[in-house]
Amino acid sequence: MLRSRILRRLLATHVLVVLVVLSVSAGLLLGDSPGNAVLAFGVAGLAGLIASALAAVWSAWRWCGPVARLTDAARTWTRSPVNRPLPIQSRDEIGILTAAFNDMGQNIADAIARMHQELEQLRAVFRSMAEGVVVIDGEQRILFLNEAGSRMLNVPLEGSEGKRLWEMVRHRQLLEAVEVVFRDGHQRCELDWPGPEPKVFSLHGTRLPGEPLQGAVLVLHDITHVRRLERVRQDFVANVSHELKTPLAAIKATVETLLDGAIEDPEHNVRFLQRVHENAERLHFLVQDLLTLSRIESGEERIEAVPLAVAGVIESCVSRQIDRAKAKHLTLRQEPPQEPILANADEEALAQILDNLVDNAIKYTPSGGTITLRWSAQDGWAVIEVADTGVGIPEKDLGRIFERFYRVDKARSRELGGTGLGLSIVKHLVQALGGSVHATSQLGVGSTFTVRLPLAESSSLVVTV
Ligand code: ADP
Repeated sequence: MLRSRILRRLLATHVLVVLVVLSVSAGLLLGDSPGNAVLAFGVAGLAGLIASALAAVWSAWRWCGPVARLTDAARTWTRSPVNRPLPIQSRDEIGILTAAFNDMGQNIADAIARMHQELEQLRAVFRSMAEGVVVIDGEQRILFLNEAGSRMLNVPLEGSEGKRLWEMVRHRQLLEAVEVVFRDGHQRCELDWPGPEPKVFSLHGTRLPGEPLQGAVLVLHDITHVRRLERVRQDFVANVSHELKTPLAAIKATVETLLDGAIEDPEHNVRFLQRVHENAERLHFLVQDLLTLSRIESGEERIEAVPLAVAGVIESCVSRQIDRAKAKHLTLRQEPPQEPILANADEEALAQILDNLVDNAIKYTPSGGTITLRWSAQDGWAVIEVADTGVGIPEKDLGRIFERFYRVDKARSRELGGTGLGLSIVKHLVQALGGSVHATSQLGVGSTFTVRLPLAESSSLVVTV
């Protein structure tokens, strides 16, 4: 019936104490005055009651100690995980409760350790992410910020937790987006990020579940590169269309004039036909350059880098260009080094690089000028220079002349039959050979284009681009 050990013990102790006190006091009183039994039992009962009360106090004191210890432990465990189990001092309910407490404490400690481990894993994942992650609470206090997020928003990683987002980042678009996330639950938008190197971020914000407002997770992705590529592609399409449109329109107009009767005009018909021919040539060169560029960029062009005598390639280039130079009264000269130089290069690619550079030098050098080709070996590189005494390139344009369709003077370039792609082809070919190209110039004095190619080692090498 009584399944509780404590209750059984308490009851037994009480009954025993009361019986002992009752019988002892009754025996003593009856022994002194056996006639007055009622008084004797009354006094014995009173003594029994007092004994019972004392026994109750003792029991309370005896059982309260362990319960108080358990209460203390429970309070401590809510603040920090269990590190030492409580001693089990009895096999009664208190002992069983203490053992259950120890189990519970151990489970809590295990669960907390597991949570810490998972949190560390999660932090490691966030740390290695290229995307910036910012977690804020409902009052825009930063709860978590990963490395990429700190870099993107220019917010220090240390010490930013707990600070309001608007205190750390003064960016109107971002703060407006956060308001929308709080209001609508999510938001996707692009942020223009100003700075020495302006950036474009895509933002994906989601409100954290729960009411009242718990906060939001903001994920930032740097899409500057994607946007730049898109712009380059759009510019390229616009440029190609424009470059094709002009000669096509000229051909169309001239042919229409011829058809309208100019063909019968012996004085002008040949001139009209020459104009058609010139524009058709321009289209031809443009398409040729575009195809070359696209073959190099797509990797279709196979470039075999082999040890190559630079002098031989320069000699051939000069013999191809000398007539054009002479026609313009230009001096085309070579300054060879003392020792022959072997570059690791593809003959056809190097010939095209030199042809483009010398062709430009001829185009942009006024009559009477000089074009010099010199080459040498420097720090493991074969360095080839094409220097002219031409019109020169303004400082502000120097950094852009290797871009597709970039021209300093559009009208002059077109007049001279330029496509605006020559230097871009040079840059791509040089890079495909593992080298570099750069230009220096002084307006009205001349320009020098310097190509660096790896010096040849004994073995030959095949590169596919
Ligand atoms: P283009 O077909 O117009 O010559 P390029 O890509 O070869 O196109 O050159 C780009 C621009 O760089 C030219 O339009 C010209 O303004 C400038 N440039 C190139 N080479 C020279 C040079 N040797 N002297 C002066 N300007 C040059």
